[in-house]
Amino acid sequence: MGAWVDHRYHELSDRLFAPVAPTPVAAPELLLLNVPLARRLGLDPDWLASPEGVACLAGNSTLPGTRPVALAYAGHQFGHFSPVLGDGRAILLGELEDADGQRFELQLKGSGPTPFSRRGDGRAALGPALREFIVSEAMAAFGIPTTRALAVISTGELVFRERALPGAIVVRVAASHIRVGTFQFFAARGDRASLQLLADDVIARHYPDLAGSSDRYGDLLDAVAERQARLVAAWMAVGFVHGVMNTDNVALSGETLDYGPCAFLDAYHPATVFSAIDEGGRYAFARQPQMAAFALARLAEAMLPLLADNEDAAFQRAQGAVDGFAARFAAAYRAAIGAKLGLPAATDADVDLSRRLLDLMTASAADFTMTFRDLGDAAGFEGADAPLLARLGGTEAATTWIADWRARLAATPGAGPAETRAAMHAVNPLFIPRNHRLEAAFTAAVDTGSLAEVRDLLTVLADPYAEHPDHAALAVPPEPEERVTRTFC
Ligand code: AMP
Ligand code: MG
Ligand code: MG
Repeated sequence: MGAWVDHRYHELSDRLFAPVAPTPVAAPELLLLNVPLARRLGLDPDWLASPEGVACLAGNSTLPGTRPVALAYAGHQFGHFSPVLGDGRAILLGELEDADGQRFELQLKGSGPTPFSRRGDGRAALGPALREFIVSEAMAAFGIPTTRALAVISTGELVFRERALPGAIVVRVAASHIRVGTFQFFAARGDRASLQLLADDVIARHYPDLAGSSDRYGDLLDAVAERQARLVAAWMAVGFVHGVMNTDNVALSGETLDYGPCAFLDAYHPATVFSAIDEGGRYAFARQPQMAAFALARLAEAMLPLLADNEDAAFQRAQGAVDGFAARFAAAYRAAIGAKLGLPAATDADVDLSRRLLDLMTASAADFTMTFRDLGDAAGFEGADAPLLARLGGTEAATTWIADWRARLAATPGAGPAETRAAMHAVNPLFIPRNHRLEAAFTAAVDTGSLAEVRDLLTVLADPYAEHPDHAALAVPPEPEERVTRTFC
């Protein structure tokens, strides 16, 4: 067993959580285990896979030394404030320290009702549990900050959604589960003392450099803005649509949190929405930066009592942090999209160039991922424009764009074609968790119990930039009739 640390929430404030034990499940079975992650956390994979270990991961027995809790939080859901949300189907077990002394929280998702369950059953279905495991591990392989998945356990019980589905538990690992909504929970209650404890804890844990600052809460807002800006820019660079960027799903650590109805673009369109519950398109692909700014504004609002004694001064500090987001995002996005174009020192003019490319992709419904791979290949071989041109619809505008891009590449000092291609292929993945492949894998798992397709996806997504000749089909965009345009959680 690894070194368990009882989580610090017990020392912070008992208003932050409700003590609650997981509800035992009928017949737990270990479906997926993340062996490298287990090792990193000092957990013995063989023990985790043993009946004793599986019982702990399923919530059927308590890990020695842990005091499980459900965390309280509030949040704006689709723009509307709910003063009480909280972990309705997740239970935090405790913390583990990796070899570098970094602490991680271990949470069971789908482990039964809590005082925050409202009308929910506290459970998760197998398909969404597998989605969280696969997509969060893919995000980690892309180098994007994210919660991780340690295991998926099937419960041997049914959960009832549109139909009866096999139940499962995801074992999630996060630097922390503190969200914008956690701050909102205390702000809504006028509980300044808890707010301050929380802010100090977030600083100590995620932003230790700020601890000595005389304006540390304002600095915290700026630092959170910076991490969110980088995070959302990184999402946009791989075509990720989070789907539910409610303020309770925005983590102060800067990790991607809550893999619900998320999905990756195939055919590019800025207004793409997958989530079946996002009817208004609030969380559409291209709206994600604005929605991150909205969450940041809600955090700033919640933190007003900490920012200054004088209300005007507090408001100004908050406004400054919120206003700063746009420039932070622009810089992060410029760097990310520039690298994708083979232009590491991208300028604002290069961002305009990328916008023209995205417009061409929209018009030709080009596959987002394959367009950037084609671009890398084109960079490697002067005159090898045909696949890219075809992908972009073969129009005159596409020809002009390619010529303009080549002119920019030529003006970029240093790297030769082969190096540029390699650098681009190192940031433009060949494999993404394609929605139609995920759905097919979930269907196989639910209907036949086979995890073969899930395992193939995990194999390619562990190294998504490399070619995997044995699984080349997993890189192929869906045919029109294969497209999966709606996701459920
Ligand atoms: P989400 O949209 O996943 O961020 O969830 C929003 C809120 O609904 C959170 O408070 C969740 O804990 C809660 N919730 C979602 N699904 C369930 C469920 N099956 N049972 C109980 N609570 C749930
Ligand atoms: Mg959530
Ligand atoms: Mg969720």
